[in-house]
Amino acid sequence: MSDTPEEMTRPLGDLEPEEFRRRGYQVIDWIADYLEGQEGMPVLSEVAPGEVHGQLPADGPEEGEAWEEMMRDFENIILPGITHWNHPRFFAYFSITGSAPGILAETLSAALNVNGMLWRTSPSATELEQLVLDWLAQWLGLPSGLFGIITDTASISSLCALTAAREAIPDLEIRELGLAGRPEVPRLRLYTSDQAHSSVEKAALLLGIGHRGVRKIPSDSAYKMNVEALRQALAEDRNEGWLPFAVVATAGTTSTTSVDPLDEIATLCERESLWLHVDAAYAGAAAMLPERRSLFSGWDRADSVVMNPHKWLFTPIDCSALYTRRPQVLKQAFSLVPEYLRSDVASRTAEAQQDYSPVDLMDYGIQLGRRFRALKLWLVFRTYGRRGLQARLRHHIEMAEELAGWIDEHPDFERLAPTPFSTVCFRYRAGAGPDSGDGTSLGDVADDEWAGFNEDLLEAINSSGRTFLSHTRLRGRFALRLPLGNIRTTAADVRETWDLIRRKAAALNG
Ligand SMILES: *Cc1c(COP(=O)(O)O)cnc(C)c1O
Repeated sequence: MSDTPEEMTRPLGDLEPEEFRRRGYQVIDWIADYLEGQEGMPVLSEVAPGEVHGQLPADGPEEGEAWEEMMRDFENIILPGITHWNHPRFFAYFSITGSAPGILAETLSAALNVNGMLWRTSPSATELEQLVLDWLAQWLGLPSGLFGIITDTASISSLCALTAAREAIPDLEIRELGLAGRPEVPRLRLYTSDQAHSSVEKAALLLGIGHRGVRKIPSDSAYKMNVEALRQALAEDRNEGWLPFAVVATAGTTSTTSVDPLDEIATLCERESLWLHVDAAYAGAAAMLPERRSLFSGWDRADSVVMNPHKWLFTPIDCSALYTRRPQVLKQAFSLVPEYLRSDVASRTAEAQQDYSPVDLMDYGIQLGRRFRALKLWLVFRTYGRRGLQARLRHHIEMAEELAGWIDEHPDFERLAPTPFSTVCFRYRAGAGPDSGDGTSLGDVADDEWAGFNEDLLEAINSSGRTFLSHTRLRGRFALRLPLGNIRTTAADVRETWDLIRRKAAALNG
C-alpha cells in the first residue's frame, strides 16, 4: 500500500543517542547562559494576552520538525511570554529558586522517569523521600518520628492533612457513608485566621463542608490569630450544634508573613480534641535558623505541618513537604488498593534493614503516580549542606531587614507590617515621617487615600522591566510587598530596586 515510504524508512523509536547528546549539551549551555544573563530580560513578561498563542500554529505538526527550529521558536516566541521567576530581582508573591543542583536533579529524574507509587516500583524513590524528609525535619527542629510525604503543592498537602482531620472525627464513618443525606451528622467546621491562605478554604470546598464550614478568626494588630476569639468561636459554635474538627494555624502568612501563636493554639486544640494543621509553606524554611526557631514554638505539637521546599529552600517548583504524627489516620483516609496494585510491602518489613519499614506512598495521599521529587531535595541539600542553606536564609533575612530600615528612615515611605522573615510590606505616603513604625499601630481605614498613588507606583516599577513586585491590602491600605528568597539575589539587587522605587515615586510626584 505504501508508496510514500518516507516515514517508513525513518527509524522508529526515540532520538539517536548522538543526537540526544548534541541537543542535551545545547540545552545545558542555554540554561547556563540564561541563569547568568537574565539581566537584559524584563522580569515581568510584557506580552499581550494571546500574543504567544497567536504566533503558534493552530494545528499540531504532521511531521517531526528540526530541533533548531524548535529552539528558535522557544527563544523568539516562548521566552518573551515568560515572567522570570528565577530572576534575582523577581520580588513578587514569594521569591523562589530553581537552583543549579535542583535543575540538574529534575533532568536526572526525567531520565529515570520513575513512578514511585509503590515501594517496589522504585525502592530508591520511596526510601530517599523518607530519608530526606527526616533530614529536613531534624533541621527544622520538628520532633523525631514524624511521617513525611512529598506532594506537589501546599494546597494539596493541606487538603490531605484536612482530609485526615475529617477522618479522625470519631464515629462519623465519613469515608464509608459520606456526608450528604445524613441528618444525624452535625455541620462540620474548621477554624483559621482571616489571614490564612485561600487553599484552606479550597480544601473545605473539596471536603464537602462548604464555605460556611470555615470560620475565619480575626487577627490582631500584628496579623496573628486572636486566640481568645478562637476560643469564643469554638464555644459559640458548639452551643449552636456545629462540630468543630480542625484548626489551621499559619506560620508565615502569605500577606505579611505573620505567625499565629502556635503554642497557645496547640494547647487549645489539645484541650478541645481538634486536629491542628500548621501551614508554614513559605516561612517554615526559617525554622532551620536557631535564632528564628522560637517563632515556631508549638508546631512540634501539631497533628500535621506543611512547608514548601519550592518556596524558600532553593528547590525547583514543585515540592511540598507534608509531615504528620498520625500517618495511620492519613492512610485510613486514602488507602484504597485495587488488585493490580497489591504489593507485599507490609510483609517485607521483616526482612527490612535496620529500623526502616517500607511503605507504599500511594496509600498516603490523593495521587497514585508520583514523581521522584526526593532526588532534587537530596541534591540541593547535599550541594549546600545545612550550614550553606542557613547562611543563604540569613542573608535573605538580613537584606530584608536592611530594606525595612531604609523604609523606616525615609520621610515618605512606611512599613505596613512587621518583618519577621524576608518579606517587607510597605507603601509610599508623603510625610509618613522617619521611624513610622512597623504598621502595628495602624487601625483600619475604610477609604485608603494613598491607594491610587501606590497602585500607580507599582505599575511604574513593574513596567520598568527591572523588577517585579506584587501587592496586598492591609487594614484597608494598598501595600507593596517585597519578599526575598532567590538564591542569586544580591544586596546590589535590593539596593537597585529600592533606588528604582524611590525614583518612580519621585517621578509620579512630578
Ligand atoms: C504559598 C502558600 C500556599 C500555597 O502554596 P502552593 O504550594 O502554591 O499550593 C499556602 N499557604 C501559604 C502560607 C503560602 O505561603
